[in-house]
Amino acid sequence: MAIFAAEKHTTFKQAEKNKSPVKLSNVSKRVSSQGEGYDVQCGRATEVNVVERLPFSFKQPLDSGIRSLAEVKAMAPKQQVSAVVGRVVHVSQCTETVEFQGASIEAQSCYLEDTSGTIKIQLWESLIGKLDFGRTYKLTNVSTRVFAGSMYLTTSRRTEIQQVAPLHGLNDVIQFRVDEGQVVVMEGSITSVEVALSHRCSRCNAWQQDFEKRGKFHRCFRCKRLQLVEAFQPTVNASVTFVGEFGEKELTLPNSVIKRYVQKESLSALLNEAQDLEEHLMTNMAFRMSLQCDVVIAMERVPERSVVQDTHPHEHIDASDEELVAVDTVDVVVVTDRVEGVNAEHKPEDVDVEDVETHGSLV
Ligand SMILES: [Zn+2]
Repeated sequence: MAIFAAEKHTTFKQAEKNKSPVKLSNVSKRVSSQGEGYDVQCGRATEVNVVERLPFSFKQPLDSGIRSLAEVKAMAPKQQVSAVVGRVVHVSQCTETVEFQGASIEAQSCYLEDTSGTIKIQLWESLIGKLDFGRTYKLTNVSTRVFAGSMYLTTSRRTEIQQVAPLHGLNDVIQFRVDEGQVVVMEGSITSVEVALSHRCSRCNAWQQDFEKRGKFHRCFRCKRLQLVEAFQPTVNASVTFVGEFGEKELTLPNSVIKRYVQKESLSALLNEAQDLEEHLMTNMAFRMSLQCDVVIAMERVPERSVVQDTHPHEHIDASDEELVAVDTVDVVVVTDRVEGVNAEHKPEDVDVEDVETHGSLV
């Protein structure tokens, strides 16, 4: 039921509190915006009258907000789903980054299962990394999409994720597998870099133009509120030339990968200024990059070998050691099982413009 007359709110609240049966007159019935069933709409002309008695007693409403995954799959595309509950049966290591009006927006795919089935869910930006494999979560305010004939869910700006108790009736062992390709690890150094850094208002989500991070405050160009500089979330990505024994490779380092790296190295201050991060990446360091389907999924500093050699001056690396080092750097994980219907993922077209607009919030 949807109420379009604010003055009726108190009447309904009162009736709810007293558990009073009511009779509504002058209502209209419309096809539900939730994709199935009907909405009863109350307007200004609607009359709400408490009635004396009904032939049945008061019942608590069911928690109807939660949809089973089978119900979600039966819905039309681009429908809102108020909540789903599922166990995480797959978390994609590689993310997709799409450019939208000068800012980069990142998405990650995961799979959820309940007793009715499994579904893919795409997590955007700050929600990336929030789902852990094997745990059960309730996700609110998600939306249905279709890609290559398969229904999936996508998060919105209003999505909240909450870990909940495990669902009953699921196998203890998670059988679900997705083939995501080999992880290739490469070592090398960065010979050229460009870091793009953008900031978003935490109140209205607008990307900021002319962000002045050296000051203490910044005024959002859209909502006009002056806020502490720290209130504006940085989003970063870097294009680098990566050079090593493999040759030369142009790579893009996604926001989530860079953020995990600077957090681990306690270098979060580098995100204040693009050039600071650029100079850090260029400063004679070897990096180990893990790639999957040509997307960087992790980066780390290579421990400096020269230090080890200096402390053991009489030890020299012979050919067999070099081979060991080489083998060690190609840490390959092969997942062989395949699941029908999920082969089409991780293609750039998987992300539609509407999702980007929803998350970009560029008005
Ligand atoms: Zn704002």
